[in-house]
Amino acid sequence: RLYNDVIELRGNIRVFCRCRPLNKNEIVSGTASVVDFESSLDNELQVICSDSSKKQFKFDHVFKPEDNQETVFSQTKPIVTSVLDGYNVCIFAYGQTGTGKTFTMEGTPEHRGVNYRTLEELFRISEEKDGIVRYELSVSMLEVYNEKIRDLLADNSSQPTKKLEIKQGVEGTQEVPGLVEARVYDINGVWELLKSGSRVRSVGSTSANELSSRSHCLLRVTVKGENLINGQRARSHLWLVDLAGSERVGRIEVEGERLKESQFINKSLSALGDVISALASKTAHIPYRNSKLTHMLQSSLGGDCKTLMFVQISPSAADLGETICSLNFASRVR
Ligand code: ADP
Ligand code: MG
Repeated sequence: RLYNDVIELRGNIRVFCRCRPLNKNEIVSGTASVVDFESSLDNELQVICSDSSKKQFKFDHVFKPEDNQETVFSQTKPIVTSVLDGYNVCIFAYGQTGTGKTFTMEGTPEHRGVNYRTLEELFRISEEKDGIVRYELSVSMLEVYNEKIRDLLADNSSQPTKKLEIKQGVEGTQEVPGLVEARVYDINGVWELLKSGSRVRSVGSTSANELSSRSHCLLRVTVKGENLINGQRARSHLWLVDLAGSERVGRIEVEGERLKESQFINKSLSALGDVISALASKTAHIPYRNSKLTHMLQSSLGGDCKTLMFVQISPSAADLGETICSLNFASRVR
């Protein structure tokens, strides 16, 4: 390890649940909240089902609607910063469209999310370690849509987007040859890159929100570190993943392109669930190859890699079905 003051984590897989607040429309229309929080415990929540039965779910941590971005980051910080100590880390936001996946990861300029706060913290710590460990940070940004990988930082202006493939690297790691890895020196540089990546992402879609709900957006931070005292070197990846919406699409609208999309989404999200639950139960065979997403993340999932899943939910009675599905998914990976 490059340095040893990282907070010890309990196990390598964590699941946090975050419930968004009721939005304006829901409040105006008098929508009931069906999610209840045990006041004495900060890691348990209850869902009140329509038959008035109650289902309880336990997590490593539960964020209530009133918990802000800073509170969320304070719990996330020890996990993301372990990338500086040579660990590979994956963070996912999972859930139905509209539950706050993008809010948690990207956030807004007024309410910065995990991505921005993480990079800020990585720069801060690497400055603090100046003279002890030398760090080089770079960033890649890509999208997985219908099992195709697209580079969001490549110059796509002149030619059609080049298709990226996953290759086995010399050290048995998974590499994506040709993927842009932009060296970053400060938080403002990162912010500009993320903005340009988001612009590329929405090109060609009728509505940015529509496409973003059907593709996975991955931000990869590559950290190269060299301990200046003992000469030890490490290269590690931190993946920050805003997953496609987990909602099941209505039977009527499902045909043609939309049908293909939803099949790909189901396939990759269930493959991700299968991989994480296989890791959690310490099964010998981990089915990484079942989707582009899990294949690409293979060397950052399992072993001594750290994994964090945010399960995002809505408090609204109207979303009860999807909420139960997401919570069941979470129980499977924990
Ligand atoms: P998703 O990416 O899961 O589709 P979004 O992140 O786009 O969902 O969130 C949907 C809307 O709800 C956005 O307007 C977002 O700003 C708002 N929102 C989500 N979570 C929160 C939260 N915890 N606090 C305040 N607003 C939120
Ligand atoms: Mg989103």
